[in-house]
Amino acid sequence: MTRMSKINAPDIDLPDGRLFVGGEWETGTGAEITSIFPADGTVNRIFRGASREDGLRAIASAKAAQADPAWRNLKPHERARHLYRIADGLEANADRISRIQTRDTGKTLKETRALALSAAGTFRYFGAVLETMDDALTAQRGDALTMSVWEPLGLVAAITPWNSPIASDAQKVAPALAAGNAVLLKPASWAPLVSLELARIVEEAGLPKGLFSVLPGAGREIGNLLVEHPDIGRVSFTGGTSTGRQIARQAAEKLMPVSLELGGKSPTIVFEDADPDLAIAGVLYGIFSSTGQSCIAGARLFVQRGIYDSFVPRLVRAAERLRVGHPGDPATQVSCLVHPDHRAAVETHVAAALAEGAQLLTGGRRPDDPALAEGAYYLPTILSGVPNTARICRDEVFGPVLVVLPFEDEADLIAQANDNDYGLACGVWTRDFPKAWRIGRAINTGTVWINTYKQFSISTPFGGEKDSGMAREKGREGLRAYQAQKAIYTDLTNAPHPWAADLLDGA
Ligand code: NDP
Repeated sequence: MTRMSKINAPDIDLPDGRLFVGGEWETGTGAEITSIFPADGTVNRIFRGASREDGLRAIASAKAAQADPAWRNLKPHERARHLYRIADGLEANADRISRIQTRDTGKTLKETRALALSAAGTFRYFGAVLETMDDALTAQRGDALTMSVWEPLGLVAAITPWNSPIASDAQKVAPALAAGNAVLLKPASWAPLVSLELARIVEEAGLPKGLFSVLPGAGREIGNLLVEHPDIGRVSFTGGTSTGRQIARQAAEKLMPVSLELGGKSPTIVFEDADPDLAIAGVLYGIFSSTGQSCIAGARLFVQRGIYDSFVPRLVRAAERLRVGHPGDPATQVSCLVHPDHRAAVETHVAAALAEGAQLLTGGRRPDDPALAEGAYYLPTILSGVPNTARICRDEVFGPVLVVLPFEDEADLIAQANDNDYGLACGVWTRDFPKAWRIGRAINTGTVWINTYKQFSISTPFGGEKDSGMAREKGREGLRAYQAQKAIYTDLTNAPHPWAADLLDGA
């Protein structure tokens, strides 16, 4: 199964670890951050993250820059130009971004290149949305011209996880800037470098100083500062459910809007009438691409009873053919995990599942290949033989671990699929479109894929239900999430208000 890779770590001039604070490159004064290349454990950079004081300086610069008429009064098409220039920079630097992100996360170069290009597309999209969104003249109910217009919120904090940094950064930074805000980005401590590269590109694109800061640093220190600070008008968070819950509590205290993109335990569903080839390829991609480190990973597979005994062994054989290898090897399908500590967490989940009585169908260990011995690798793993109530069917593993369950009919499937705290995504394989539609409408998730999985479009809103979060990102309305709606009434009579008109003496 394992392919030996002869490719060395992608050779790249990494960001030096200085922070981008209010438009200046500064050495941080917070806790030390160590970025490693998880494919072989070598150190990328050790640098000081942002302290509270660094964060406060960034907030002060952001406040001044956002209030400056040079930014605030830009016409939509003028502000959009900034986003287009950033998009151009991301595209021109896609290879470099890809290598940096591969060094930081261990994701394959193929995947990180796609993420860099998708980030460019996100900036371009929100530039176009900005240019084409209208304020509204509302239906008149009196002698006033009534309008609904949109204002920036002011300062936005974007807090992102380590799994797809450049894409999740762009998904927050692009609409927030387009909406006229200043943005303070706090990337995850396991993958901080590519966000610093984004800062370089934004600076090169000529965005006025102070409008964008990148503050790697401990979540509990700098992340917490951004959430609690009175000048921050919105937090856009992607990460784990417990962190999201904590941020929601703090936001409630400030009465601050917050968007939360959280974890998942998404069901993939294969009916007896499905095309088995489509289903197997889709299920494998759904769980094992990105080494399972994806919020939308299809981690619970439901297979209809009538095909269970033929489908599952075929699926297992295909999983055993997945090419596990170095992220720089173009043939690799399943690379390493983000960090040895994360692999240890995945191993703990699998050990607990086995202790719970799960049957191991494949994987459940590190690869034998000596060339991969220094990296945080873990084989694609498939488990069965536990009910949907087992911990391994409830807890997010965020790794290459699939649990397979049988189902009888539509009613049984809907009950089992919905019996979970999460509600992020779902995949259905069937040749019966009306059935797919019924199931898609009945499953409580933010996204449903029919005969496919993990397809994405920036123009289609994304987000979760239940413990998978609240609010939506992407789509045209994704820009409005970073604005406040304001009503403007302009009198059309030019006459004194009748309520006080008879009091006037004409002097
Ligand atoms: P965490 O919640 O641990 O961290 C996410 C971010 O929050 C990091 O930048 C982290 O900083 C920061 N943070 C941690 N504690 C605080 C705090 N008290 N206040 C403010 N910020 C804080 O998640 P992971 O990084 O482990 O990411 C994996 C999770 O993200 C998974 O659950 C996954 O499902 C979810 N996710 C959801 C997606 C979605 O769109 N729904 C997409 C991708 C991932 P630091 O790194 O320094 O701790």
